[in-house]
Amino acid sequence: MILLEAEDLAKTYFLGGAEIRALQGVSLSVQAGEFLAIMGPSGSGKSTLMHLLGFLDLPDRGLIRWMGADQTHLTDEEAAFLRNRVIGFVFQQFNLMPRSNALENVMLPLLYSDAPERKTSRPAEALRAVGLGERMRHRPSQLSGGQQQRVAIARALINQPRVILADEPTGNLDSQSGSEIMKILKGLHGRGMTVILVTHDEQVAKFADRIVKMADGKIISDERKAASTPVSVWADSGIPQIRKKTYDWSELREHFIQAFRMIISNKLRSILSMLGVLIGVACVITMLALGKG
Ligand code: ADP
Repeated sequence: MILLEAEDLAKTYFLGGAEIRALQGVSLSVQAGEFLAIMGPSGSGKSTLMHLLGFLDLPDRGLIRWMGADQTHLTDEEAAFLRNRVIGFVFQQFNLMPRSNALENVMLPLLYSDAPERKTSRPAEALRAVGLGERMRHRPSQLSGGQQQRVAIARALINQPRVILADEPTGNLDSQSGSEIMKILKGLHGRGMTVILVTHDEQVAKFADRIVKMADGKIISDERKAASTPVSVWADSGIPQIRKKTYDWSELREHFIQAFRMIISNKLRSILSMLGVLIGVACVITMLALGKG
């Protein structure tokens, strides 16, 4: 079954008057259950393609279809819904919330989701599944790079996505942690998950069953390992119907907790901001009093 199709995608960036043609007519079709590696030199457009497929950016031209349905021109709200429910992102920089512990980081996508299962024990199970059952209350700074990436994988899986999009997931890791991460991704693929991976590392790409090579914003080769037959169990449920977001108290509470942590952890910045507001208000009151006088 075809999970995802990109047709003639083009994306141009304008930077200081210069025109950068990051993608120049890329067409790609991904079957449910495939393990696909996108390779190419730096600047060849790999990440741009990943961002377009993952609804992080919009193409200038072309079409993106998920399970046959056109999903090219989405509103911000629709794109956010699909990012949350359909895709699990794993980034090179992990992108964890520094002041939240592993469990809270994994819980975050549930908080922004309307999934009925949001208040379950799933985050803890997801962390145990990546071997971090003993590290749930640790913050990212108390974890190694490999462990942080495992938290990121648990977070990516928490909303049961249809596909994992991983952008250089081993780029910031030593070779041992990198191969552990690749084994986790390979294991997920073995259980039917579609994995699309961007990498420039041949060793990492060897885990994939299909290798697409890019150069100058175009696909220059697309090779499949003969033995691979994609099996997918997770894509069968289709793409969830886009729903309007409803807010509830737990989300508001989380915003307050995050804001409070930011104030506490940046004490000097917070005190200076308060001082600024204080002086500003005092000046306005003084000027008004003087004027009146
Ligand atoms: P890769 O992932 O293969 O290294 P990218 O997709 O990140 O390549 O980038 C492709 C080209 O587009 C590069 O020349 C890069 O400098 C440029 N580019 C990417 N993102 C932006 C952006 N937000 N603004 C301007 N140029 C960009």
